[in-house]
Amino acid sequence: MALPTPSPASTAVVTGASSGIGAAIARELADRGHGVTLVARREDRLRELADELAGRVRVEVIACDVADSAARAGLFDEVDRRGLPADILVNNAGIGVTGKPLHETTLDEWKRQMQTNLRGPFLTIKAFAPMMIAAQSGHIVNISSLAGKNPLPNGAAYAASKWGLNGLTYSVAEELRPYNIRVSVVAPGSVNTRFGSGGNGKNAARKLQPDDVAHVVAMLVTQTPQSFVSEVLIRPTQKP
Ligand code: NDP
Repeated sequence: MALPTPSPASTAVVTGASSGIGAAIARELADRGHGVTLVARREDRLRELADELAGRVRVEVIACDVADSAARAGLFDEVDRRGLPADILVNNAGIGVTGKPLHETTLDEWKRQMQTNLRGPFLTIKAFAPMMIAAQSGHIVNISSLAGKNPLPNGAAYAASKWGLNGLTYSVAEELRPYNIRVSVVAPGSVNTRFGSGGNGKNAARKLQPDDVAHVVAMLVTQTPQSFVSEVLIRPTQKP
């Protein structure tokens, strides 16, 4: 059976849309005519982006902590209440506990890392996959990292969360393929955002820019219907 081409009238839920890569993904998808539901904790930042995109496509703002299961239920209820189709889910929200070896990482830091980067996508997929299964179509794009493909000294908890996200993605992709749902993972190298700004001596201008990652997401959701790109590794052309 041929996979359906994404409808330009579709709606994308983008987590972590209040800054950096998530905001760029939301802009890119809105530019292509997809409605966007912007999710993050900083509601003021989401509202600024919503104002910028308003008038072009349907934009919704849901202030929510994706690591919190009660908030996740609220997110799904809101999407349901507002009648949003949510046929694209981009799990982009993430944090990085880095800058120290694992043995100095506290249990609270470890929990916060895993709850945001791994439990968050688990909860959103639990919320939205049934809707996509019923529709027999959909895209789920998880934003991982090259730190999920390589060792990251002084960032073991972050690396573990992204290695875990990769394994989760590959497995869920196989679970949902029979329903014409394409589940992909994008693993960027250093991106010039708030997240990646922590004095690591890299040249910001040479880093990937948020739009580079957004372009990949647009590519994934416009892939020809009979195929899907399961994983993209993206690096800056010039080493930063
Ligand atoms: P930013 O810090 O700019 O963006 C992170 C986003 O995640 C923000 O919108 C933040 O919003 C949101 N977020 C964090 N925690 C939560 C939460 N508990 N609930 C809801 N939203 C949350 O960094 P980036 O844009 O760089 O990061 C986006 C993704 O890209 C992350 O998953 C990161 O791991 C990944 N990545 C980044 C790289 C880089 O070099 N920058 C490289 C490879 C991957 P708010 O604070 O308002 O909740």
